[in-house]
Amino acid sequence: MTEFAKQKRFKTRSEAGTLAMGERVAEMLAPAPKLIILRGELGAGKTTLVKGIAAALGAAEAEDVTSPTFTLVHEYVGAKTRLYHLDLYRLETERELLTLGLDEMAEAQDALVLVEWGGKFPGVVARADGEIEIEHAGGDERMFYVRMK
Ligand code: ADP
Ligand code: MG
Repeated sequence: MTEFAKQKRFKTRSEAGTLAMGERVAEMLAPAPKLIILRGELGAGKTTLVKGIAAALGAAEAEDVTSPTFTLVHEYVGAKTRLYHLDLYRLETERELLTLGLDEMAEAQDALVLVEWGGKFPGVVARADGEIEIEHAGGDERMFYVRMK
């Protein structure tokens, strides 16, 4: 189990609120490179948060960020940050994970790697610089716990 020294909590009350919160989270994650695991059940808001972060970094318009459920990885290039968005929900083995080249992504200059369902794989957990856990808090409310080393 990875220990994280710092934790910040955020609460949003809508999808728009989570998109807007991307700016504050993006600031917390700078300076890159960073590998961050996104935790939370289906529909928690992991992809929505990535949209907000991508927009804050100037890497993509929020509406152009789509879930990499089938492609596994999407890459967005901003002025200062290269954003990799992964969704490992459909990935079953660490062997398949190796073919994705996660190490190269995380080591790339100015990379920020956001990994939905990264918690499934001990190898990803071991090398994560932080994690963001999302919990339902009733209706459209969500709690975000941003934990960093
Ligand atoms: P995940 O990637 O965790 O499966 P998504 O971001 O794809 O989740 O979907 C989140 C869903 O929850 C969307 O349909 C979104 O409209 C809805 N939603 C409702 N309230 C919020 C909120 N506060 N933050 C993020 N998404 C929310
Ligand atoms: Mg998702």
